[in-house]
Amino acid sequence: MSAARVGIGRDLHRLKRGRRFLMAGIALPARRGQLGHSDGDALAHAVCDALLGAAALGDIGAFFPPSDPRWKDADSMELLRMAFARVKEAGWRLVNLDCTVSCEEPKILPFRDAIRESLALALETGPENIFVKGKTGEGLGDIGRGRAVEALAVCLLEKREK
Ligand code: MG
Repeated sequence: MSAARVGIGRDLHRLKRGRRFLMAGIALPARRGQLGHSDGDALAHAVCDALLGAAALGDIGAFFPPSDPRWKDADSMELLRMAFARVKEAGWRLVNLDCTVSCEEPKILPFRDAIRESLALALETGPENIFVKGKTGEGLGDIGRGRAVEALAVCLLEKREK
Protein backbone atom coordinates (compact mmCIF):
# COMPACT_ATOMS: atom_id res chain seq x y z
CA MET A 1 0.00 0.00 0.00
CA SER A 2 1.35 3.41 -0.87
CA ALA A 3 1.12 6.42 1.42
CA ALA A 4 -0.93 9.45 0.41
CA ARG A 5 -1.04 12.89 1.98
CA VAL A 6 -3.20 15.97 1.47
CA GLY A 7 -1.95 19.54 1.69
CA ILE A 8 -3.63 22.93 1.78
CA GLY A 9 -2.32 26.34 0.78
CA ARG A 10 -3.78 29.83 0.87
CA ASP A 11 -2.43 33.17 -0.26
CA LEU A 12 -3.69 36.72 -0.43
CA HIS A 13 -2.13 39.63 -2.30
CA ARG A 14 -3.01 43.28 -2.54
CA LEU A 15 -3.78 44.58 -6.02
CA LYS A 16 -2.38 47.83 -7.35
CA ARG A 17 -2.47 49.74 -10.61
CA GLY A 18 0.68 49.43 -12.68
CA ARG A 19 1.41 45.85 -11.62
CA ARG A 20 0.93 42.71 -13.72
CA PHE A 21 -1.88 40.34 -12.74
CA LEU A 22 -0.26 36.90 -12.74
CA MET A 23 -2.02 33.57 -12.32
CA ALA A 24 0.35 30.60 -12.34
CA GLY A 25 2.73 32.58 -14.53
CA ILE A 26 0.07 33.66 -17.03
CA ALA A 27 -0.36 37.45 -17.30
CA LEU A 28 -4.10 38.18 -17.41
CA PRO A 29 -5.71 41.43 -18.58
CA ALA A 30 -6.71 43.47 -15.51
CA ARG A 31 -6.58 47.09 -14.37
CA ARG A 32 -4.60 46.12 -11.27
CA GLY A 33 -2.00 43.48 -10.50
CA GLN A 34 -0.46 41.88 -7.43
CA LEU A 35 1.84 43.72 -5.08
CA GLY A 36 4.46 41.50 -3.49
CA HIS A 37 8.13 41.03 -2.73
CA SER A 38 8.17 38.43 -5.49
CA ASP A 39 5.98 38.84 -8.58
CA GLY A 40 2.97 38.30 -6.26
CA ASP A 41 1.55 35.30 -8.10
CA ALA A 42 -0.93 34.26 -5.38
CA LEU A 43 -1.96 31.00 -7.05
CA ALA A 44 1.65 29.85 -7.47
CA HIS A 45 2.26 30.67 -3.79
CA ALA A 46 -0.82 28.80 -2.57
CA VAL A 47 0.16 25.74 -4.62
CA CYS A 48 3.71 25.88 -3.19
CA ASP A 49 2.31 25.83 0.33
CA ALA A 50 -0.09 22.98 -0.45
CA LEU A 51 2.75 20.83 -1.83
CA LEU A 52 5.24 21.67 0.92
CA GLY A 53 2.58 21.20 3.58
CA ALA A 54 1.50 17.80 2.27
CA ALA A 55 5.12 16.64 2.30
CA ALA A 56 5.66 18.28 5.74
CA LEU A 57 8.73 20.05 4.38
CA GLY A 58 7.98 23.62 5.46
CA ASP A 59 6.22 26.55 3.89
CA ILE A 60 6.92 29.13 1.24
CA GLY A 61 7.99 31.72 3.81
CA ALA A 62 10.67 29.38 5.16
CA PHE A 63 11.91 28.32 1.70
CA PHE A 64 11.85 31.77 0.10
CA PRO A 65 11.83 34.39 2.91
CA PRO A 66 10.74 37.89 1.80
CA SER A 67 13.71 39.24 3.79
CA ASP A 68 16.05 37.59 1.28
CA PRO A 69 16.87 39.93 -1.64
CA ARG A 70 17.29 36.87 -3.91
CA TRP A 71 13.49 36.56 -4.08
CA LYS A 72 12.79 40.21 -4.90
CA ASP A 73 10.59 40.24 -8.02
CA ALA A 74 11.18 36.48 -8.25
CA ASP A 75 9.35 34.44 -10.88
CA SER A 76 6.94 32.54 -8.64
CA MET A 77 6.62 29.68 -11.13
CA GLU A 78 10.38 29.19 -10.72
CA LEU A 79 9.85 29.11 -6.93
CA LEU A 80 7.09 26.54 -7.49
CA ARG A 81 9.38 24.36 -9.61
CA MET A 82 12.07 24.58 -6.89
CA ALA A 83 9.58 23.64 -4.16
CA PHE A 84 8.22 20.76 -6.24
CA ALA A 85 11.77 19.50 -6.83
CA ARG A 86 12.17 19.17 -3.05
CA VAL A 87 8.83 17.38 -2.79
CA LYS A 88 9.93 14.94 -5.51
CA GLU A 89 13.31 14.41 -3.79
CA ALA A 90 11.37 13.35 -0.70
CA GLY A 91 9.74 10.63 -2.82
CA TRP A 92 6.34 12.19 -3.54
CA ARG A 93 4.42 12.62 -6.76
CA LEU A 94 1.34 14.73 -7.34
CA VAL A 95 -1.96 12.88 -7.71
CA ASN A 96 -4.17 15.94 -8.17
CA LEU A 97 -4.46 19.62 -7.35
CA ASP A 98 -7.66 21.64 -6.95
CA CYS A 99 -7.64 25.42 -6.63
CA THR A 100 -10.04 28.33 -6.16
CA VAL A 101 -9.10 31.89 -7.04
CA SER A 102 -11.20 34.80 -5.74
CA CYS A 103 -11.02 38.23 -7.37
CA GLU A 104 -13.35 40.81 -8.94
CA GLU A 105 -11.42 40.94 -12.19
CA PRO A 106 -10.35 39.45 -14.46
CA LYS A 107 -12.72 36.54 -15.01
CA ILE A 108 -10.71 33.34 -14.59
CA LEU A 109 -12.86 31.07 -16.78
CA PRO A 110 -11.52 32.19 -20.20
CA PHE A 111 -7.99 31.53 -18.95
CA ARG A 112 -8.67 28.38 -16.94
CA ASP A 113 -7.14 25.94 -19.40
CA ALA A 114 -4.00 28.06 -19.88
CA ILE A 115 -3.60 28.25 -16.08
CA ARG A 116 -4.10 24.48 -15.75
CA GLU A 117 -1.54 23.82 -18.51
CA SER A 118 0.98 26.12 -16.84
CA LEU A 119 0.61 24.36 -13.47
CA ALA A 120 0.66 20.93 -15.14
CA LEU A 121 3.93 21.75 -16.89
CA ALA A 122 5.57 22.92 -13.64
CA LEU A 123 4.28 19.92 -11.68
CA GLU A 124 5.12 17.32 -14.34
CA THR A 125 1.60 15.99 -14.71
CA GLY A 126 -1.31 16.28 -17.13
CA PRO A 127 -3.85 19.14 -16.99
CA GLU A 128 -6.56 16.53 -16.28
CA ASN A 129 -5.05 16.27 -12.77
CA ILE A 130 -5.36 19.98 -12.10
CA PHE A 131 -8.42 22.17 -11.74
CA VAL A 132 -8.88 25.88 -11.12
CA LYS A 133 -12.13 27.63 -10.26
CA GLY A 134 -12.77 31.36 -10.27
CA LYS A 135 -15.02 33.17 -7.77
CA THR A 136 -15.80 36.82 -7.10
CA GLY A 137 -16.08 38.56 -3.75
CA GLU A 138 -19.72 39.55 -4.44
CA GLY A 139 -18.70 43.16 -3.92
CA LEU A 140 -17.82 42.43 -0.29
CA GLY A 141 -14.56 43.13 1.53
CA ASP A 142 -11.22 43.82 -0.08
CA ILE A 143 -11.64 41.07 -2.66
CA GLY A 144 -15.08 42.41 -3.61
CA ARG A 145 -13.70 45.94 -3.96
CA GLY A 146 -10.96 44.73 -6.29
CA ARG A 147 -8.20 45.45 -3.80
CA ALA A 148 -7.04 41.88 -3.26
CA VAL A 149 -6.85 38.45 -4.83
CA GLU A 150 -7.01 35.22 -2.85
CA ALA A 151 -5.94 31.75 -3.93
CA LEU A 152 -6.69 28.44 -2.22
CA ALA A 153 -5.10 25.14 -3.21
CA VAL A 154 -5.56 21.56 -2.06
CA CYS A 155 -3.31 18.78 -3.31
CA LEU A 156 -2.94 15.03 -2.89
CA LEU A 157 0.54 13.51 -2.94
CA GLU A 158 1.36 9.83 -3.23
CA LYS A 159 4.62 8.19 -2.18
CA ARG A 160 6.34 6.74 -5.20
CA GLU A 161 6.95 2.99 -5.04
CA LYS A 162 10.61 2.27 -4.30
MG1 MG B 1 2.27 35.35 -1.66
